[in-house]
Formats: sequence, C-alpha cells, structure tokens
Amino acid sequence: MKKTIYLLLIICNTLTISAQKKLKNIKIAESYSKYLKNNSVKKDTLKKEFTNTCFTENWVTSQFTAYRNPNIKFPFEIVFSDTTYASPVGKKHVITSRYGWRKNRPHRGIDIDLETGDSVFSILPGKVRFAGRSTGYGKTVVIRHTNGLETVYAHLSGFKVKKNDFVQKGQVIALGGNSGRSRGSHLHLETRYKGIAINPEYVLNFKTDYKIRAKNLWVTQDWATTYYHSSKRQSKLVTLNSYEKAIAYKKRKRKVYIVKRGDTLSGIAYKNRTSISRICKTNKIRKTTTLRIGQKLII
Ligand SMILES: [Zn+2]
Repeated sequence: MKKTIYLLLIICNTLTISAQKKLKNIKIAESYSKYLKNNSVKKDTLKKEFTNTCFTENWVTSQFTAYRNPNIKFPFEIVFSDTTYASPVGKKHVITSRYGWRKNRPHRGIDIDLETGDSVFSILPGKVRFAGRSTGYGKTVVIRHTNGLETVYAHLSGFKVKKNDFVQKGQVIALGGNSGRSRGSHLHLETRYKGIAINPEYVLNFKTDYKIRAKNLWVTQDWATTYYHSSKRQSKLVTLNSYEKAIAYKKRKRKVYIVKRGDTLSGIAYKNRTSISRICKTNKIRKTTTLRIGQKLII
C-alpha cells in the first residue's frame, strides 16, 4: 500500500514538471512570435538568436551586476552580426569624457552630451536585462545583445522599456538625464562583456558612420583596464580582429624614451599617445615623481 502511494506521488510530480515545462515552452513560443512580428530581420537569424543561451545564463534582472567572478581569459572574442550600430543619442556625438582613469578613480564608460528629456536609443538589438536604479549610475538600463555584449545607459531621467523586453536597434529605451553621481545631464554609456567594462571606443567608432570596429573583435586586457587610458584623450586605437593579432599585440615591443630637459610626464604621454597612468604603472613611478634628464622610461 505504502509503495503504491509513493509511486503515485512520483507520477504526479513528473506530470507537474512536464506540465510546467510545456507552459514555459508555450510562453517562449508566444513571446517569440511577438518578437518576430516586431522585427524585420530574417526569421532564421531570429530563431537562432532567440535560442541563444546568453538570454538565459546569468540572466539577472534585479540588479546591475549579473556576473560574479566570471571565468574569462584574455584575449577573448566578441562576434558581431551587425557592421553598424545605432547612435545612442538623436544627434551628433559630443564626447565630454572618455573611458579611463579620471581623478584617481576608474571611469568605465564614455560620456555623451545630451539634454534632460532627450531620447536614448539602443545601439543594437537585444533584450533588456535591467531597468532600474543603481548606486552612482542613477536610473540605468542594461541591454544584453545576442553576442553576449551588454550596453549600459546611465544617469537617465525616465524609462521607455522594462526588464525582459526585446528591443530593436535604434529603439527608444529611455530619456536622458542627470540622475545618480552626475554633474550636468549626459549619457554614460558602457560596453561590457560578462561584466568586464571594455573601452567603448575600442568596440564602436564614434567618429564615422556608426561602424562597429570589427566583425570578430578580440579584446586584450589593455582594452578592459581603465588604468591604461585617460578620460581626457582618445587612446591610440588598434583593432585586433584575429587571435594572432591579439597575441602579437599583447607581446608588442615597448619603446624606450629618454627624458630630456623640460619634459613632463603629461608631455611625454601626449607625444607618445599614451597615458600618464600607463607610464607610471609600467615604470613603477608615481605621478608626482620628479623626472631626471637622461632617465629611461618604457612607453
Ligand atoms: Zn560617465
């Protein structure tokens, strides 16, 4: 008798699980057909994109951070199916601050000028992972794209999307503003992969034609470390579109600079298209160190 009850319980449980699975599949099919209706891209591509595990793995909608200790090794590859992106603001980009070291703290994105209330657009198609408030960032939208790249739009004044919404390239997702730790209205845009903030200028060309820098973009540690860049000027950009190039870049020979009379760290950094922080780190000196004439610096 006991055995029969036990068996019945197991059967019931299995049935509930399969019913749940069925329901989940129906839900997925429903949102998939809705997604198809709203998109003009080829159906096959969409189907592939929809089943992409990047929308299930580490899918956290309650907070800005989705990855804790991501197991990621440099260099890594990000593959794009698009060659261009949509502008995140409805006008020509005016960059007011770049990715890099800024006033002794990291600045993990790029600041683009806008007025409070201006529309903010998703640069690529994707799914809204987070839409809410986050410390420092203020009102923030995080969109995960089909290749795993996430774009972060911060200091917003209002939301036009909610978590789990699918968005198209160029769709209005929010209104720009000045929320969070921000002085004056602007858009703070970040490009992240598994939580790692990459210099957005390495991924996207902000100067011409809204081009994505490469179909196969290889990211070395240099492009994901704020310390190597200055928020005040553009870093010398080298697009690495193959594993071989990424490895060669990692092992590139450093130049030796001999300090001349009247040289300053900022002058040397400017002349050699690098940052003060980078020179300091490579040469193990402080920003305040007095340079000696004839001193050798690795650039
Ligand atoms: Zn910023």
